[in-house]
Amino acid sequence: MLFRLLVISLLLLPHAVRAQEYVPGEVIVRLKSQHGSAESFSFMDKAHSDKSMRLRRAWAKMSMYHYTVPQGQSVEAAVADLHADPNVLYVEPNYLLHKSSDSGVQSSLSASEVQVLSNQSQSAYLATNANIGVQAVWSGNITTGSPRAVVAVIDTGLDTTHPVMIGTGAVWTNPNEIPGNGVDDDRNGYVDDVHGWNFVDNSPTMYDDDSHGTHVSGIILSVDQNIYTTPLHDANIRIMPLKFLNGSGVGSTSDAISAIYYAVDNGASILNNSWGGSGYSTALAEAIAYTYTKGALFVAAAGNNGMNNDSVPMYPANYDTPNVVAVAATLDSDLIAGFSNYGAARVSLASPGVFILSTIPNSGFGTMSGTSMATPFVSGTAAQMKYAVPGMLGYQLKSIVMAQVLNVPQLISKVKTSGRLNSATSVASARVATVETSQPAYTLTLQPDRQLASNLTGSAAGCGMVRTMESGDGEPPLGSAAVIVGLVLLPLIVLLFMRSRAPENRRRYERFKLNSDVRISVGDRELVGSISSLSLGGAQVNTSALLQDGGLITLMISSPNGDEKVEVAGRVVWSAANKAYGVAFDHAPQSALTRFSEWTKSLSKA
Ligand code: CA
Repeated sequence: MLFRLLVISLLLLPHAVRAQEYVPGEVIVRLKSQHGSAESFSFMDKAHSDKSMRLRRAWAKMSMYHYTVPQGQSVEAAVADLHADPNVLYVEPNYLLHKSSDSGVQSSLSASEVQVLSNQSQSAYLATNANIGVQAVWSGNITTGSPRAVVAVIDTGLDTTHPVMIGTGAVWTNPNEIPGNGVDDDRNGYVDDVHGWNFVDNSPTMYDDDSHGTHVSGIILSVDQNIYTTPLHDANIRIMPLKFLNGSGVGSTSDAISAIYYAVDNGASILNNSWGGSGYSTALAEAIAYTYTKGALFVAAAGNNGMNNDSVPMYPANYDTPNVVAVAATLDSDLIAGFSNYGAARVSLASPGVFILSTIPNSGFGTMSGTSMATPFVSGTAAQMKYAVPGMLGYQLKSIVMAQVLNVPQLISKVKTSGRLNSATSVASARVATVETSQPAYTLTLQPDRQLASNLTGSAAGCGMVRTMESGDGEPPLGSAAVIVGLVLLPLIVLLFMRSRAPENRRRYERFKLNSDVRISVGDRELVGSISSLSLGGAQVNTSALLQDGGLITLMISSPNGDEKVEVAGRVVWSAANKAYGVAFDHAPQSALTRFSEWTKSLSKA
C-alpha cells in the first residue's frame, strides 16, 4: 500500500521535481556498534530471521552492511523500519550513480586524423589557447626510480589491450596475486585480482563496454607523455581499473564504496571519480573520509547540469572532506563550458573538458566532452607530482594544484580558485615543496535525520546525471499498474523456477556428518570454526563470526582424526541464523577431493 501511495505521489509531483533513483530492494545500513560485537551479531540475527533481510556484503571495519530487503517490502518502508532500530546509526537506499560525460564518444578518429592532431602536440586545442602545460611535464619528466604513482580509475572499466596501455606499461598489476590460479593469494577478499576488479560482474575480468573509463585513463596518461605518437615509453604512473559503472554508465553506491576501499587498501594514492549523483550518501561520505585518513587524493567531476553546486549539491564533488578536489570543465577560451556545473565555494578549479582527444576501446582514439574529461587532467597532474615526491599526501597535492592554477577572469565566482589547472607549474612546485607529513584533522558529521527526510520525499536536486521521474513523462496509470504487477510477479516466477531446480543441485554430492575444526580466512581476517558436514562440493561451516553471502573464503579443514589439514577455496552460498553457513567449493584441487573421499569413507551420511 505504501508503495502504491508513493507511486501515485510521484505521478502527482510538479514537473520540475525529481526523485532520486536507487537500486530496488537494497539498503545500506551502518550500525552504532563495532563489527564483531555482541550487539552487531544480535542485529544481524534479527535482520536475518525477523526481517528476512539478506546480507550481500559487509564493510567490516566501518560496521557498514549492504542488505537486500524482503520481496514486497519497499526501500522506503525498509528505511523507515531500520531507522527506528536502536542499533542503527543510519540507513539509506543504494543510490544509483552516473558517469559525468556530456555524451558518448563524439567522434571516433581515423589514424590519419589522430596523426594530424598529434603533430600539433596533444590536441591543437590544449597546445594553444588553454595550454595546461603537459608538454613541459613530458619534457621535464625525470626517471626517479620511485614507485609508480597508482591512480585508481573508478569508472566503466578499461580496454587493457589498447596499444597506448600496452606501450606505456600503464596497467596496474597486483604484485601479490598469482594470475588465474583461482586463489586469493594476497587474501584481500578478491580472487585473481591481478589488474584491478570488476564490481559489476564481481570478477577479475576487465573490459570497457562504454568507452568512458578507457577515455578517462588515456587523459591521465596524456599528462605523462605524448600518447598520440610512437614510440611510447614506460609511464611514471599505473592505472588501477575498478569497474563499477555498467555499459550504460550507471552504477550503485554500494559498488562505488567497495571500489573506493579497494583502491586505497591496495596502494592507489589518487582516485579519479568522473561520476556522480544528487543523493547525499553518508556511507559514501564515510568511504571518502577513509581515503583521507590513508593520505589519498580524491578527484571528482563537478557534474554536467550547468548548475551551481553551491546551491544544488552534486556528490561526491560536494563532500567537504579535505582531500576532495571538485573539477569544472572549460572550453579552449577558458570560459566555463555551458554544461559544466560550477560553484565559488564547492568547485575547486576548472580544467579543459570539451572535445578532448583520448583513447577508446579497440585501439581507437576519439573525442568526448564533460567534467568527466576535465577531472583526469587533474588526476594525471597529481600523479606526476606524487611520482616526483612519493611522500606527499593527498591533502598537499590538492593544496599545490589549487595554488598553482592559472587565474582567469572568466572563472571568478565560478570556481573557488578562479583558475584553470596548470600541470607544468604544479609539478615544478611539488618538486621543490617542503613535504608535509601531517594533515588537518577531519571528522565527518553524520546527519541521519536528513537522510530519512530526503529519501522519503525525493529531492529537488536536479543533477542531470540522476535520471528523472517526472509527471507526464511515463506510461499512463494503467500501463504503470501493469508494469508494477509485472515487477512484483517476475521475481516470484524466477524464485519458483529456482526452487524447482534447487533439489537437483543439492543432490549432486553425497554429504557426510563429521565434527572437525576449520580455520577460515576472509580477506585479511583469520577465523576459527567447525565443520558439521562435508561433501565433494562443499561443507557446512559453523562459526560465531559473520560471513557474507556470496563472499569468497579459504578453508583449512582438519581431518576427522585431526591428523591432517587440507586447504580449499569456497564461496558462501547460504547462511542460517545460528551462524551456520553453506560453503560451495570453488575449483577444489583433485588432491583435496581425494583426501575428502578418503576421510568420508567411514562416516555416516548427513
Ligand atoms: Ca586477491
